[in-house]
Amino acid sequence: MSGKPSRIDQAYTALKSAIIEQALRPGDKLPEDEVGQLFSMSRTLVRQVFSRLNAEGLIEIGGKRPATVAIPSLDDAVAAFEVRQALEREVITLVIKRWNPEHKAALEAHLAREIEAAKAGSAPMSIRLAGEFHTLLAEMSGNPLLSRFVSDVVSRCSVVLAVYGRPHSADCGVHEHRDIIDAIAAGDATSAWDLMRHHLGEVEARALIGSSEDSPRSLADMLSPYVEGGAGTKARPAKNRGRPRLQVVKENR
Ligand SMILES: [Zn+2]
Repeated sequence: MSGKPSRIDQAYTALKSAIIEQALRPGDKLPEDEVGQLFSMSRTLVRQVFSRLNAEGLIEIGGKRPATVAIPSLDDAVAAFEVRQALEREVITLVIKRWNPEHKAALEAHLAREIEAAKAGSAPMSIRLAGEFHTLLAEMSGNPLLSRFVSDVVSRCSVVLAVYGRPHSADCGVHEHRDIIDAIAAGDATSAWDLMRHHLGEVEARALIGSSEDSPRSLADMLSPYVEGGAGTKARPAKNRGRPRLQVVKENR
């Protein structure tokens, strides 16, 4: 595959990166004509880009209203992490089964970039690289379909982080990736999966309640502003399904 990416691919990649790196925030509007102008493309092509992003859970297409960056509900968030656990378990199994030394070199190189981004304090870069570690690992499974599903669910989890996590925080601990690489390289499937399961649990915790070292808050506290009746009321995620209001998300920044 050496051809230039099509204009649709370019627009898709740009918008996806902007969403994952939180340059575009959940709920932000994406008017077709403005996006078309930005990428010099017709509204028909813009709709094709939107339909891809929509299929991956990154944006919502609102009929007559402009498309918006998706705001996953709490139910959506939990569902994404459940699926991610299942898929990444299979990734570990297959990567160990089909391991070759080039994989270790590629993972080490990626980890070095993560460490660099963390040192530089580049939040958008850290967020993107954290997700890419998992998609890189999935590519090494040698199963393109699994790889695609992992990429999809990792993107969804990034949007969850943007909605419910602390602003501009990456979801992965770099040292956790280090340990996972070592266990996989050693061919130790049990340890690798234990580490990955623990890691994904941490990722989910950070995505859903933030890595709030200053004042640990329960999910109910965190979500109470979204629930009718305001602070102090118990969160009822099912009733709140779908649409935490953007201005409330911004108040938490
Ligand atoms: Zn990770």
